[in-house]
Amino acid sequence: DQNIFQAIISHCKEYGFIFQSSEIYDGLSAVYDYGQNGAQLKKNIRDYWWKSMTQLHENIVGIDAAIFMHPTTWKASGHVDNFSDPMIDNKDSNKRYRVDHLIEGHAEKLSEADAAALLATMDKLLADNDFAGLKQLIEDNKIACSVSGTVNWTDVRQFNLMFSTQLGSVTDEASEIYLRPETAQGIFVNFLNVQKTGRMKVPFGIAQVGKAFRNEIVARQFIFRMREFEQMEMQFFVRPGTQKEWYEKWKEERMQWHLSLGIDPSKYRFKDHVKLAHYADAAVDIEFDFPIGFKEVEGIHSRTDFDLTQHQQFSRKKIQYFDTEINQNYVPYVIETSIGLDRMFLLVICSAYAEEDLSTPEKQDSRVVLRLPAKLAPTKLAIFPLTKKDGLPELAQQLMTECKPHFYCFYEEKDAIGKRYRRQDAVGTPFCVTIDHQTKEDGTVTIRYRDTMEQERIPMSEVKNLVLNKIA
Ligand code: ATP
Repeated sequence: DQNIFQAIISHCKEYGFIFQSSEIYDGLSAVYDYGQNGAQLKKNIRDYWWKSMTQLHENIVGIDAAIFMHPTTWKASGHVDNFSDPMIDNKDSNKRYRVDHLIEGHAEKLSEADAAALLATMDKLLADNDFAGLKQLIEDNKIACSVSGTVNWTDVRQFNLMFSTQLGSVTDEASEIYLRPETAQGIFVNFLNVQKTGRMKVPFGIAQVGKAFRNEIVARQFIFRMREFEQMEMQFFVRPGTQKEWYEKWKEERMQWHLSLGIDPSKYRFKDHVKLAHYADAAVDIEFDFPIGFKEVEGIHSRTDFDLTQHQQFSRKKIQYFDTEINQNYVPYVIETSIGLDRMFLLVICSAYAEEDLSTPEKQDSRVVLRLPAKLAPTKLAIFPLTKKDGLPELAQQLMTECKPHFYCFYEEKDAIGKRYRRQDAVGTPFCVTIDHQTKEDGTVTIRYRDTMEQERIPMSEVKNLVLNKIA
């Protein structure tokens, strides 16, 4: 599966989906740029999420808060004190590891029962912040550094993941601010603004998509773990005491969202958190079977009234809601759904990528195809005149003019048709249309379907609606 993963990474680069950041300077670790096809695919995922959360939910509205926030925000949220991962260095190789990743890596080499026992012990020690115990566990299991094979470790230390920078030109302590490590706090501090101006009634939600930054200790595995990434989050405010119900509801609803993309359900599973974050009373991950194993793509957290209460205390402003149905003032409880846009992108690419053997007894053949859901594909329709003459390009341009206001189209007249089809397969274009001499006579074109590679003749005048129906 590592080979498939490497093939997907190469494919993303070769076809303009993802480039390493600042590649000409040998790149910047765990930072990536999206190319012409990647930016479009990413936008389509973002739009699909945004529409399903806001437009299709009358009680959820969207906002766009700034990346920079008042530094007290992060004291109130607990990030200054708690947003850290335990790390350990290997003294011989000078390599740094996240303690949980190191132990999980070791567990993969053990029998199922031994691995389960080891991970249970680890979870307990992590939950207790028992750093000495964690070091002991690493030593007792003779966990070696994967590079040098030695077992010479430093103590376990906490490492805060927030990036800081200076606001303004005066470099005193007060001007130090953070790049937000999650988008959620922008929603919490705007709770009253939105509730009042939107005359929102609990239960209601606020959604947001935006960049977040984390100085991850070890960032590898391509765009799975990045230092600059995008989150799509929704905070749903509910009456205290009803959070369990809403938690279950959002858990199901978010899974349904994933399945609505037509992705294989057997590749998904829920995983309950063993160690709850400082703000949560229940938390579950939606995990996906990536080529690198089952990993988290989205978290659903019951955050209690922790955040709003903290902001109320630190800002000394009342953050409460008057519930007219029960004639009571309260600080609402929060259910949060939090998904990484880049991680969802990786999920979509991994589930779409296929290397197919098309050999017949006569001829060896193969193709690489991205079986992207049609509504997410960067280009929906490719239009090819069979030849560059006889008025075929003009007819093709006519179809371009008709379709491009409605969805992304791609025009190409170079190379053999077969080659042009394969290039579109590789970027996931669900439909290709070829204009030939018969088009001039009877107005029909050949439409070719990416997944089945089947072709049929249909009137050119029906192309636009056919594509519109399939991407709706
Ligand atoms: P982990 O334990 O893997 O570090 P987390 O539990 O801290 O992740 P959350 O804080 O719950 O992650 O973040 C919500 C979502 O944001 C995750 O499910 C993931 O999709 C995304 N995400 C978090 N960190 C990163 C990252 N470094 N790169 C890309 N996406 C990320």
